[in-house]
Amino acid sequence: EEVTDDNEAHETSEKRGERSSKVDLGDGVLGWLGIYYKNAKILFLGLDNAGKTTLLHMLKDDRVAVHTPTLHPNHEELVIGNVRFQAHDLGGHEAARKMNVRRKLWKDFFTTVDGVVYIVDALDRERFPEAKKELDQLLTDEMLSNTPFLVLGNKIDLPAAVGEDELRQQLGLTDTFGKDTKPDAANGVRPIELFMCSVVRKAGIQESFQWLSQFLN
Ligand code: GDP
Ligand code: MG
Repeated sequence: EEVTDDNEAHETSEKRGERSSKVDLGDGVLGWLGIYYKNAKILFLGLDNAGKTTLLHMLKDDRVAVHTPTLHPNHEELVIGNVRFQAHDLGGHEAARKMNVRRKLWKDFFTTVDGVVYIVDALDRERFPEAKKELDQLLTDEMLSNTPFLVLGNKIDLPAAVGEDELRQQLGLTDTFGKDTKPDAANGVRPIELFMCSVVRKAGIQESFQWLSQFLN
């Protein structure tokens, strides 16, 4: 692993973090996430209102070089160092046909994507079936067939959020990769795992991204 400024920054913020319960994203957000990789492309997907934009903004920090072109209201991008994050809304009122057109436009991004972060609003029980349908479509997408999936059940800071077991049932994720399973035990199985989180509280984010980062080249 090469030593970059980000790595050094990571160590510093980690040391700071030991002394304080407040997460200091400081200048080492990629280190905090466990992502040291060059040219990693990570796609944030999920229904609207799941928390994708909030997560992008959380990762943004003006102490690091950040490039945020406005592409489309439901298509956002954040570049930190050599890691590119893109967020896209799925589902909603958009017709399937239109969706397919958009997928073709995204093809260039999809074919080189290193990881998918699929975010679900753990409060929005009514839309779990829709969230599952979109997730299932992604999981059967040929362009993403080897792509690791981190599924985030977001907004657990609110008492009305469902628990992990119920969300696993609702999304059909009862048989996942394992939070502690090592990548070399994957045996060609696609890594997919569910973590509960609160983006606004920065809870559960670090652990889950560190899980994902093991599968990035
Ligand atoms: P997007 O459509 O997926 O981009 O969702 P947004 O990031 O715009 O978030 C939708 C709404 O959910 C906003 O009002 C956010 O403030 C709220 N939200 C996002 N993350 C959290 C969270 O962790 N907890 C709570 N309580 N609200 C959140
Ligand atoms: Mg958004």
